[in-house]
Amino acid sequence: MQETRREQMIGLLTEGSWTLDSLAKYFDVTSKIIEDDLSHIEKSIKKTHSLKQIPPYCEGCGFVFKNRSRLQRPSRCPECKRERVTEGTIELVLKS
Ligand SMILES: [Zn+2]
Repeated sequence: MQETRREQMIGLLTEGSWTLDSLAKYFDVTSKIIEDDLSHIEKSIKKTHSLKQIPPYCEGCGFVFKNRSRLQRPSRCPECKRERVTEGTIELVLKS
């Protein structure tokens, strides 16, 4: 039986961290669909794993985009106006 996209995603995210864009490219779907899947995954695995999101941050001044609920990369930093902003990443961590 073929694994569903969400099952595959759980596998990928337990092995390493991914950006929203890289997951969207991997599965050839929009990032909106990935965000949707992630919210379902978070619920279905919450007993054993937690979904860890590293927010985007500015490499220029260290500003962290904490208040963004979406993981898409902001185009520039509101503090220093530079465009060296990293993408937020997602991974699944096993609860101890
Ligand atoms: Zn900055």
